[in-house]
Amino acid sequence: MSSFSAATQDEVRRHNLARIVRRLHLNGPASRSELVALTGLNRSTVGVLISELVDAGLATEGAGSAGTVGRPSLVVALDPLSAVVVAFDLRVERLIGAVIGVGGEVLARRELKHRRQSFGPQVAVKQLVAMTASLLESVPEGAAWVGAGISVPGIVDHGDGLVRVAPNLGWNDAPLGALATAAMASEFGAGPQVRVGNDADLGAMAEHVRGAGVGSQNLIYLSGEVGIGGGIVIDGRLMAGAGGYGGEVGHMVINPAGELCRCGARGCWETQIGRDAVLRAAGRELDAAEVQDIVIAARSGDDAALETMRTVGGWLGLGIGNLVNIFNPEVVVLGGHLHHLIAEVPGATVDRVGSSLRAPREQVKVMAPELAGDSTLIGAGELAFAELLADPLGILARSASLVAS
Ligand SMILES: [Zn+2]
Repeated sequence: MSSFSAATQDEVRRHNLARIVRRLHLNGPASRSELVALTGLNRSTVGVLISELVDAGLATEGAGSAGTVGRPSLVVALDPLSAVVVAFDLRVERLIGAVIGVGGEVLARRELKHRRQSFGPQVAVKQLVAMTASLLESVPEGAAWVGAGISVPGIVDHGDGLVRVAPNLGWNDAPLGALATAAMASEFGAGPQVRVGNDADLGAMAEHVRGAGVGSQNLIYLSGEVGIGGGIVIDGRLMAGAGGYGGEVGHMVINPAGELCRCGARGCWETQIGRDAVLRAAGRELDAAEVQDIVIAARSGDDAALETMRTVGGWLGLGIGNLVNIFNPEVVVLGGHLHHLIAEVPGATVDRVGSSLRAPREQVKVMAPELAGDSTLIGAGELAFAELLADPLGILARSASLVAS
């Protein structure tokens, strides 16, 4: 056998292992028959691959709970405690962290509030390291730490995790990925490379593979925080643009007579429907109220609150109508505070979405995220799992095992 064909065989084996692990990771336990159908391989080859996963401790095989009719079939499942990642959702006013087992189970979760623009990347990394230590303490000895991911509300260079600009954090060219990777390695002796992604992109991918967009190939996720971001999935792939900076729908100019935006333009969508815009429209103090408070007031019949919801809901719908015309998505997911706007005043948003062309309008569903407030956190987890899913046994062998402290 030539070395070329040996290398190719190894690649084929890795590819097939990756397909099986990805299937189990995203869709849960499967029978051998399902894995045979998935891979198109014969039963004995699939059996060998499953044995490799079981021997490595990544999967278990046993009598399944699914399919109670007929003879019981062996079910293959991933062991969530065999390989874990840490995932972070770094927001303008809070940091949320989780340790997630392979298969997607959130094993532990932490949350920390911070003051807006009170921290730079160095301080953020200190918080990330401290939270990682606390999260990893909750994982039993022997789990492999295979990845780390951070969601940020900014434009990110994916290669090295450089945050090019995050206007609402006040960050420019912050090397978050490199700083976090070095800090983790120094604190824990070893650690994975820390991946960084844009919050809306990660929310879009999470809802696409695990949430409201499962089964659809074209989806737009809108992150509604202080800023407004957009993650756009086209034909099952995240739209990146030439430099990876595409999808900045929050800076789509929608009202030329509107407020000045942090980006320098006037009347960006963010200045009409972002968190601060909603609170300002309702005459509330930015530090003393949440969008939820206005929702509650509107629900109890407060006229000013209702008027705010209608106005902001109208701007929301206008922007969605434009996006529907351009991208023809099957699903638009409203993340953060945005889903409140459609839940409370459906008429206002739907009327304006109605300004889009009839054909794409008839195909789109405007929905709340199925992962609730965790779309971006779960997306950061998926980013962290990407390398394991590409080469399960290779990454598992190279990753540091956690030692209980
Ligand atoms: Zn702007």
